Amino acid sequence: MIKKLIPDYYYKSIYDVPYDKLYADGIRLILTDLDNTLISYKQNMPNEKLFEFKKKLLDMGFELILVSNSKKERVDNFAKAYDCPYVKFATKPLKRGLKKAVKKVAKKKYSKDQIILLGDQLMTDVFAGKRFKIKVALIEAIDKSTDVSTTRFNRKLENFFIKRIKKKLPDLYNERLKEYYGE
Ligand SMILES: [Mg+2]
Repeated sequence: MIKKLIPDYYYKSIYDVPYDKLYADGIRLILTDLDNTLISYKQNMPNEKLFEFKKKLLDMGFELILVSNSKKERVDNFAKAYDCPYVKFATKPLKRGLKKAVKKVAKKKYSKDQIILLGDQLMTDVFAGKRFKIKVALIEAIDKSTDVSTTRFNRKLENFFIKRIKKKLPDLYNERLKEYYGE
């Protein structure tokens, strides 16, 4: 199980992901978490930088879909303002929401090796993506202090598994997680 908690990549923010390299590697569909990946829990609306970010990705030839576990109207409002297709109440780490994004929203245009998921949580985003057998980039949370209670609980679990990964798979830990979680 712990192997499914190890992301393929780790980046400081969505703006640090080398999208040209992903494109060259054949990635065409970017699924992204919303809370603490695109915006903090305190923010509700996309800012100018996020609009530029989306435009850049679409211009490059990517398709972008939001996949959020939240069921709040805030997700609908954000997605509409951002003019971006989305799946809410995605139930990550279950595969259900990712499947919906790929099959219904993206209309089965992409094979799994053409898809990457960006997200800030090991227990939901990374676990869901690896179970669904797509690439996952772990993104450092924008502001953990804004995490809601379920996320706080997940962070505790995350710490527990981080210790196990460090012990059992030290090489992978050093390669993919050390930069984020430290020595
Ligand atoms: Mg998140």
